[in-house]
Amino acid sequence: MKAITVIPGQPDSSSLRDVPEPQLGASDHRSVRVKVLRVGLDGTDKEINAGEYGAPPPGADYLILGHEGFGVVTDVGPDVTEFRPGDLVVAIVRQPGESVYDRIGYPDFTIDDTYHEHGISLVHGFLTEYYVEDADRLVLIPGGLREIGVLLEPTTVVEKGINQAYEIQRRLKVWQPRRAAVLGAGTVGLLATMVLRLRGLDVTVLALEEPPYLNSELVEALGARYVSTRTMSMEEAAAAHGPFDLMFEATGYSPLAFEAMGVLGRNGVLVLASVTGGDRKVEIPSDALNIGFVLGNKVMVGTVNASREDFETGVSDLASAEARWPGWAERLLTHRVEGLTDCPKAFELLGSPGVIKVYVQVGEA
Ligand code: BGC
Ligand code: ZN
Repeated sequence: MKAITVIPGQPDSSSLRDVPEPQLGASDHRSVRVKVLRVGLDGTDKEINAGEYGAPPPGADYLILGHEGFGVVTDVGPDVTEFRPGDLVVAIVRQPGESVYDRIGYPDFTIDDTYHEHGISLVHGFLTEYYVEDADRLVLIPGGLREIGVLLEPTTVVEKGINQAYEIQRRLKVWQPRRAAVLGAGTVGLLATMVLRLRGLDVTVLALEEPPYLNSELVEALGARYVSTRTMSMEEAAAAHGPFDLMFEATGYSPLAFEAMGVLGRNGVLVLASVTGGDRKVEIPSDALNIGFVLGNKVMVGTVNASREDFETGVSDLASAEARWPGWAERLLTHRVEGLTDCPKAFELLGSPGVIKVYVQVGEA
C-alpha cells in the first residue's frame, strides 16, 4: 500500500512510498484494522517535513506522517466488543510509555524522556491506506459527525488545555469564569473559541489579520468577538472586554505568552498551547509580570496532547456545536487534497492566507 513518509531530520524529505499493508494476526485479540478516510495536517507536520521535529520508529529509517486521522473499521479481533466493521473511528495520538502517568491512562502527562506519538515520534502515522491499532486507543465517531470527524484531534488538544484550566481553578472553590481571551484564530484558536462558548463564556479572540475574513466571521458566528491586534493592543482589549478569567494562547508566537501574562485578570489562568520549535528570545518586564502574578494569585499552565477523556469530551463538544451552529465546524475544512499522491500540494497550502484546515482525502468509506 502507499504511504506519505519522511526521513526525520532531513528537510523536505516527504515522498510517496510502498509500505507493507498491515493485517490482523492470530494473536491480535484486541486489535482493530482501520481504513484511512481523511487526515488533517498542521504546523507539526510542516515542522517534521522541514526536518526540525519527529523521530522514526525503532529500526526504521522513515516515518509515516499524519496524526490527525479519521477512518472506518474494516476488521476487529475476537475480543473487540466496542467496534464493528463500518464504524467510524479516530485514533488517540500518543501511546502509553512507562511512567506512572502512562500507567493510569494519561500518557499526555508522561515524564518519560521520550514519547510515542503516531506520525510524530517513534510510531507511524495515518497518511497511508490502512493501520492496525489497539481497540483501547480508538474513539468511536457517530455517523452524524462524518464530515467533521477529522477535526477531532485538534479539538482534543483544546479540550485538554481547557479542562486543565478548570481543574486547576478548583483551588478557588467558587471560580465562575465569565470572560475569556483566545490568542490566535487558526484551527486551534477557533476550536478553543467553540469550546469556551459551549461553556458559556464571553470570548474575545485576538489575532493579527483585520476583519472581515473567514476566520473573523467564524468567530462571530459563535457569538464571540474578533479583535485585530493591528487596531487594538492586547492591553486595550483587556481593558475593554476583560478582565480575562481564562486566556488560551494558540498563535505559535511565544512572545505573546508574556504579553498575555501582563493582562490576565486576578485569579485568572493562562493556558499555553503553542509548540514553538525555534529559539526566539525577547526582553520582558519581569518585575511587573512577577508582581502581577503574585498579587493577583494567577496561574500559567502549559498543555500538550490529550488523553482518552479529552477525545471523548471532544466528540460530545463537536456534536453539541453541530447541533447549535450547524455547518460551522465544516467551514474550518477549507482545503481538501485529493489522495495521497497530491500530498506535496498540502504542505504548500499550510500557513497560506485563506487556509484554515488542510486535509487529505485518502480513501472513501
Ligand atoms: C499534536 C499533539 C502532539 C504535539 C506534540 C501536536 O501537533 O496535535 O497531539 O502531542 O503536536 O508532538
Ligand atoms: Zn497536531
